[in-house]
Amino acid sequence: MPTERRSLIMLFGANGDLAVRKLYPAMFKLYEKGNIRDHFAVIGSSRYKVDDAKYRELVIKSVSKESSNKKKITDFASHFYFVTHDVTDLAHYSALKDKADELDKKYQLGGNRVFYISMAPNFFGTVAKNIKNQGLLSTSGGFNRLVIEKPFGRDFESAKELNDELSNAFEENQIFRIDHYLGKEMIQNIEAIRFGNTIFEALWNNRYIDNVQVTLAEKLGVEERAGYYDNSGALRDMVQNHIMQIVSLLAMEQPVAFKDTDIRAEKVKALRSLRVYNVAEASTNFVRGQYGAVGENRAYRDEDGVPKDSNTETFVAGKLLFDNYRWSGTPFYIRTGKKLADKFTRVDVVFKKPLVDIFSFPQSGKALLNANVLTIFIEPTQGFSLLVNAKNSEQGFHTEPVNLEFLEDSKRTRETPQPYERLIHDVLKGDGTNFASWPEVASAWKFVDQIRRVWDIQQPMFPNYIPGSMGPVSADELLARDHREWIYKLNQ
Ligand code: NAP
Repeated sequence: MPTERRSLIMLFGANGDLAVRKLYPAMFKLYEKGNIRDHFAVIGSSRYKVDDAKYRELVIKSVSKESSNKKKITDFASHFYFVTHDVTDLAHYSALKDKADELDKKYQLGGNRVFYISMAPNFFGTVAKNIKNQGLLSTSGGFNRLVIEKPFGRDFESAKELNDELSNAFEENQIFRIDHYLGKEMIQNIEAIRFGNTIFEALWNNRYIDNVQVTLAEKLGVEERAGYYDNSGALRDMVQNHIMQIVSLLAMEQPVAFKDTDIRAEKVKALRSLRVYNVAEASTNFVRGQYGAVGENRAYRDEDGVPKDSNTETFVAGKLLFDNYRWSGTPFYIRTGKKLADKFTRVDVVFKKPLVDIFSFPQSGKALLNANVLTIFIEPTQGFSLLVNAKNSEQGFHTEPVNLEFLEDSKRTRETPQPYERLIHDVLKGDGTNFASWPEVASAWKFVDQIRRVWDIQQPMFPNYIPGSMGPVSADELLARDHREWIYKLNQ
């Protein structure tokens, strides 16, 4: 049986989309596995006027497809309590405090408290402040941990303001900033692949790696998130957080030990050596796109809730350069976008070709060997492949690229814990490895802000790519200029 994690989880935004679609199913999985058992309780809160029984119905409905064991589900839901609460009304906090103290005793929670703010970001600071000022923090020796959803600010200034507010109530090691990409199995596997294998880590530098490519492709458009998305755009929505986190895991030095403080320290160091671009560099090294219409697919500007003259980017591609000994001269290319050819996330690590190609025929004048490519498939396929050159078995001596491949089978992929299950478990354990620390968030914003500044003064030529493609032509040109190309191309 796994270690039982005793805690009260105080969930703000308990009837919201995230709570219902992701958080309750994730908590149920932890309950099924025994990570949370008898000694846990959840206080859900929002302005919703419901009693515990109605709230439990919502929880049961939300987890019903996770199991056919009705008793298990009912037992799980019996740990859930509801307090109607407006986070902006100070008088409401005393009911939460009383309920927390009562449940602490009833379930013997040892004073451990997780405050999970699953609400619009403008409430993050207010709730954190009130948790402290209204006496909700546990003082009986247990832990106090704050979980914050994304987005964490919309630029460095607003992120710093938010962070200052949070820091008045919680220490940095008590704050868990969710980036659900960090909960994904294969993102966590990047560390295993890099630091568990001599053959990769020995070559993991600018002497042997020509370039690194990170692609986060989405097939869908903005759907019903237009209001949020149009204010954000792909740069803020995907690059500042998920992509920068992935890049920092790929670029960091080996941590002293596999523990959160050491890993975070190395990620921060890597991000601090990322070159922050001046205006000219930002214009050259980043391109943006917005999808137009094709067939039955509407253009972004025709989506419900999007202004007809919106210049919000739905696609970004860029070149990142690290000014450090390991990576100087090896670019990291990144791209992400909506309405692309398919939904997938992958990393391609492109090694340099052998300096001498003894297999090429002098008369052909061209090198025949391919670059070795390590591809890390993050989702939906999980696994990795390594492209190597080998002799083919035909007459004569000809080399051909072959793939050494490990792909998780679909059963294991289905059984793999989902990001929120891992992340909630990490919070209960107090392990901050897979959360974004403030210095990481700050460095990422400083980098992204420079691109944004340039884009805000330059008029884009939108729309510039069609749904079902891999983005605008300029994304291919970005690499072509460096005599390179994306490893993942359409129809592969
Ligand atoms: P949502 O569906 O709009 O839910 C917001 C919640 O806040 C509701 O429970 C709402 O309940 C409550 N609320 C609003 N005003 C309140 C107030 N004054 N006092 C108390 N409660 C209040 O939002 P969501 O989609 O769940 O997103 C929550 C957070 O997760 C956001 O930061 C979002 O960016 C992030 N996130 C969401 C997703 C997702 O898939 N949904 C994915 C990634 C990140 P009442 O109206 O009953 O008060």
